Amino acid sequence: MASLAEALATTFLPARCATCTGVLPWRGSRAGVCPVCWSQVAPHAGRLCPSCGEAEVADAAPCLGCRAAPPAWRAATSYGPYVGVLRDLVVSFKNGRRDELAVPLAELLLAAWQRAGWPRPNCVAPVPMTAWRRCRRGFNQSELLARRLAGVLGTEFVHALCRSGGQAQFGRTRAQRLSLSASNFAPRGPVAGEVLLVDDVLTTGATATACVTALLRAGASAVRVITVARTLRPGRIP
Ligand SMILES: [Zn+2]
Ligand SMILES: [Zn+2]
Repeated sequence: MASLAEALATTFLPARCATCTGVLPWRGSRAGVCPVCWSQVAPHAGRLCPSCGEAEVADAAPCLGCRAAPPAWRAATSYGPYVGVLRDLVVSFKNGRRDELAVPLAELLLAAWQRAGWPRPNCVAPVPMTAWRRCRRGFNQSELLARRLAGVLGTEFVHALCRSGGQAQFGRTRAQRLSLSASNFAPRGPVAGEVLLVDDVLTTGATATACVTALLRAGASAVRVITVARTLRPGRIP
């Protein structure tokens, strides 16, 4: 039964869940999201391709796509599919300016990193945002995640890359997006050792590929890519 304090709090402080908009319960909510929503955040099912992180692949070898065209990165992985509540959380983190979600989302990154069984990186770097977009949004979501993850892994956070151009990728064709990102990233300086590149979502992989190429050019010995979510292959039923 609800205590008096609980009843008073929910009556006079009717906070709403950032995802389902239901009234936040007294206990169990995190970063403004109710426990029911958190319980629906699911990791990828089945085996992941060790190279690109594609879910539900048949065996432990790199998938057909990776064998046909090996990616620029050493490996990529993510916590779960970009659907449902996980998608809502990422969108709300990015566009809803809910930077408090960085803490629980970085925990999902840590879980993905542990699942992948990767070695500890020498540094953690975010996918950068253009100065214009960062100014408009007030924060770079990938930077918040990367800082947090670097802290948890006990490794260095580095602003390894900068990004030029103000064009958003939204509404562009895949070909336009691929050509857009290739030239838009530049290293800020030399990079050494293995780098863990952090972003919120892996979509076409074009942005990550451009970043990885720039990091390798700057001296990184290997780059692994980690994202909170990953979009499903077109035509795939979640
Ligand atoms: Zn909720
Ligand atoms: Zn693959």
